[in-house]
Amino acid sequence: MNRIYVDNAATTPVRKEVVDKMLPYYTEFYGNPSAVYAEGQQTKKALDEARETIAGILNCQPKEIFFTGSGTEADNWAIIGAAYANKAKGNHIITSAIEHHAVLHACDYLEKRGFEVTKLPVDEYGIVNPEDLKNALKDNTVLITIMTANNEIGTIQPIKELCAIAKEKGILFHTDAVQATGHIKLDIKDLNVDMLSISGHKFNAPKGVGVLYIKTGTRVHNYMHGGGQERNRRAGTENVAGVIGMAEALRLADIELEEKNKYLTNLRDYFIDTVSKKIPYCRLNGHRTNRLPGNINFSFQYIEGESLLLMLDIKGISASSGSACTSGALDPSHVLLAIGLPHEIAHGSLRISIDSQNTKEEMDYIIDSLVTIVQRLRDMSPLYEEVLKGDK
Ligand SMILES: *Cc1c(COP(=O)(O)O)cnc(C)c1O
Repeated sequence: MNRIYVDNAATTPVRKEVVDKMLPYYTEFYGNPSAVYAEGQQTKKALDEARETIAGILNCQPKEIFFTGSGTEADNWAIIGAAYANKAKGNHIITSAIEHHAVLHACDYLEKRGFEVTKLPVDEYGIVNPEDLKNALKDNTVLITIMTANNEIGTIQPIKELCAIAKEKGILFHTDAVQATGHIKLDIKDLNVDMLSISGHKFNAPKGVGVLYIKTGTRVHNYMHGGGQERNRRAGTENVAGVIGMAEALRLADIELEEKNKYLTNLRDYFIDTVSKKIPYCRLNGHRTNRLPGNINFSFQYIEGESLLLMLDIKGISASSGSACTSGALDPSHVLLAIGLPHEIAHGSLRISIDSQNTKEEMDYIIDSLVTIVQRLRDMSPLYEEVLKGDK
């Protein structure tokens, strides 16, 4: 059997149609878009068209779209740039406990430099309570950054409602929409956010290209310093082919969004229901319905997530665990701890993130493999032996 890739929240394959659109911009139309001669103007025009496509889909103005080198860069630019640009007004930043490290570590960076950071708690499903945001506001709050959808447990935040609280007080609102873009419908005007981050490789475009949307009039310092690209806001020669691929991938994703989401929601729910029935002592992490169509996250008691991943890998399955291995020590995921899981349960977690290339047959194969592997790992666990004895 071929390998089964179910780690689409980590990255996605680039679509063939997207590659076809990109290729001429490597070999044929290679002019630097900042150049005045014909070749430069040609690529500049292509860049502007990509900008228009993206702005049209997200419902903002093309001049509010700034191309970056990644989702991480967009997050850092938004947070660090807005914090310093509004320092005279205050130094308090509010975020959530379950953000991606691109946001959390940017906030940590600011905290070490005299800013004050509040990390809002989330409920058992990973949802930020708007009341908690209201209560956290202070006279010196200048920026709120809360993600649209979580990369580990798929929880979708009430961004429009959270943003309205910020707007009432004239506080800037940024959202990391990297997991949401191309996967759920996003309308920037409707959300009313000031800044929003995107990354191409999470929706079948290449790695190394992203967007920061900045609403006209928003005070944000530049993050990259150099040439006058992106209307003097983001220095560095644009990744022309990458940007063109990102626009095409977003265009296709937008057209197919509804149909694909029906398909993925069905697969996801089938997987969740079957695993919940077949494997004892398991827990679905995140909300049952208010989650990304492609996200599945389970904790299995009495096993180690890392062992589970290795054994799945042997069976040809590429998935992800909640725990990240940092400097030799296994730290359980900050997201799973924030939703209230004890360390030992957070350690036995598995994220399956599916996309349109995945099939029901693959889900069945993964479920069968999981049943066998979880049982085998539990059979080796002295803790589980105790539990079985206790049950009898
Ligand atoms: C992947 C991801 C990022 C980082 O994007 P890169 O383009 O890989 O730097 C940021 N936030 C979230 C929620 C992500 O899933």
